[in-house]
Amino acid sequence: MRADKKIIEYISEQKSISVEDAMALAVERYYAKGDVFGRAGDFTTAPEISQLFGEMLGAWIVDAWTKIGTPQAFVLVEFGPGRGTLMADMLRVIEKVLPCFNALSIHLVEQSGALKQKQQEVLSRYNIKWHDTVETLPTDKPLIVIGNEFLDALPIRQYERVKDVWCERYISYGVDGQLSFQHKEVADEVNASLPKKGEGIYEHAPAREKFVRDLAIRLKAQTGCALFIDYGHEISAYGDTLQAVQSHQSVNVLETLGAADVTSHVDFDALSRSIEGCAHIYALRQQGFFLRHLGIEYRAQKLSLEKECERLVAQDQMGKLFKVFAFSDKPYALEGF
Ligand code: SAH
Repeated sequence: MRADKKIIEYISEQKSISVEDAMALAVERYYAKGDVFGRAGDFTTAPEISQLFGEMLGAWIVDAWTKIGTPQAFVLVEFGPGRGTLMADMLRVIEKVLPCFNALSIHLVEQSGALKQKQQEVLSRYNIKWHDTVETLPTDKPLIVIGNEFLDALPIRQYERVKDVWCERYISYGVDGQLSFQHKEVADEVNASLPKKGEGIYEHAPAREKFVRDLAIRLKAQTGCALFIDYGHEISAYGDTLQAVQSHQSVNVLETLGAADVTSHVDFDALSRSIEGCAHIYALRQQGFFLRHLGIEYRAQKLSLEKECERLVAQDQMGKLFKVFAFSDKPYALEGF
């Protein structure tokens, strides 16, 4: 499918927009379409691969609840819940531990109206509150926060050195009816904040950094912990990681803007640095290590789901590329770290 018409119109009106603005618009327009997941959709996430994933995270939440001091009331938050599958699988496990289940209130942060509706259907048994952003979440109780493949959807900026000068990448609409990348020289203060050397594209995600910082500040005030799973790198590096996926195929970002799932690799190094000093940050774990530690292989054997388990934990599948990033208001003995 071709790029979204509204986005093309907007870019041609504005002449050009930054990669950051384009990515934010593309994500919003794309998920507004509704259910894009699974075999018949564009891409498959861990909770859509296997119930084992949500079950392990459900067990992790029950344990985290005990480690933060078994609060009688806490807020369970999921960012970007997609179809609601992960929350449904987690709650099935949490329900087995009634004191924990009775203590929680469920809050989902989702910007897509169509996906909110899907989540409502899947989770109709539960009492749920929805939010468009982190800002309206309750402020008076401890938080346990989960997000799978959420950070990768928050927008990034891209910079490139052209003749020894840092430029920001923009997208413009040409007379030929095509979108293309352009360069715009950055202001002096931006130039001063970028590395002095380096080849290729340098990515920076202020929106992601602001998101984790805001959350870390909340955790400090309310207590609790947050766990995000996403693909990305442990150490900041140069490279263009902006990517688009449609019908399980990698496609051209510009040709499909707003009509395909657009993401970029998460720079966990940069995210850690952005909350240093205001949160306790746990060792970054590979998804395979983390899920094995929680006992996924025993559960898989019991349910004869070894193939699904393999997809989640094997080094050459999702086990190594996907990382588990956790932080809290102070050090707790959370499982898996
Ligand atoms: N966690 C789900 C879905 C991942 S896709 C899974 O693992 O299957 C990304 C999700 O984040 C979608 O639900 C999308 O609508 C939501 N999302 C993306 N950007 C968002 C934003 N800025 N605010 C709130 N939700 C967002």
